[in-house]
Amino acid sequence: MNAQAAPQVLIPRNEIDAEVRTLAARITADYRDTNPLLIGALKGCFMFMADLVRCLEFPLEIEFVRLSSYGDGTESSGKVNLVQGLNVPVEGRHVLVVEDIVDTGLTVAFLLEYLKEQRPASLKCCTLLDKPARRQCEVCVDYIGLEVPDRFLVGYGLDCDERYRNLPDICYLEK
Ligand code: 5GP
Repeated sequence: MNAQAAPQVLIPRNEIDAEVRTLAARITADYRDTNPLLIGALKGCFMFMADLVRCLEFPLEIEFVRLSSYGDGTESSGKVNLVQGLNVPVEGRHVLVVEDIVDTGLTVAFLLEYLKEQRPASLKCCTLLDKPARRQCEVCVDYIGLEVPDRFLVGYGLDCDERYRNLPDICYLEK
């Protein structure tokens, strides 16, 4: 029996929605005529990516990579693994990485390096959530949505042992 307390709402769905629209407006202004390649880091980004691209009303393409840094539970292992890479060429493309949350920064740093080696025309990064208190490496994130406190978050794509990804609000788990 799982005795974990119920997730508490930190960012309700209407605030998420407003932030996604704000980010989309900035991205539209910068990428409208560039047919960008948006690359999401699975699995956590799936809901943000789906909502974001529905607000981007211009030609673009979408790909996903799968990375893992969290083992089971709520602590990052600190080591990033590329579980599934890209099957499309990136060279000469305008690439925008779409992340759910930047925490230690290790995942984004790893992904940006992996993509940079493939010589895109430009490479930027967007995250819905930023947890700066836990940063372990310097990363340049070009579009940042909401700053969040040092809590383990679930919902809106984020999981705890694969649970809670389907919650429509961003929530935290009591320790
Ligand atoms: P970083 O490498 O920046 O520490 O973490 C990046 C990845 O770790 C995110 O894409 C996300 O999958 C996961 N992560 C970081 N913080 C949290 C959190 O508070 N909750 C959940 N569920 N995953 C997180």
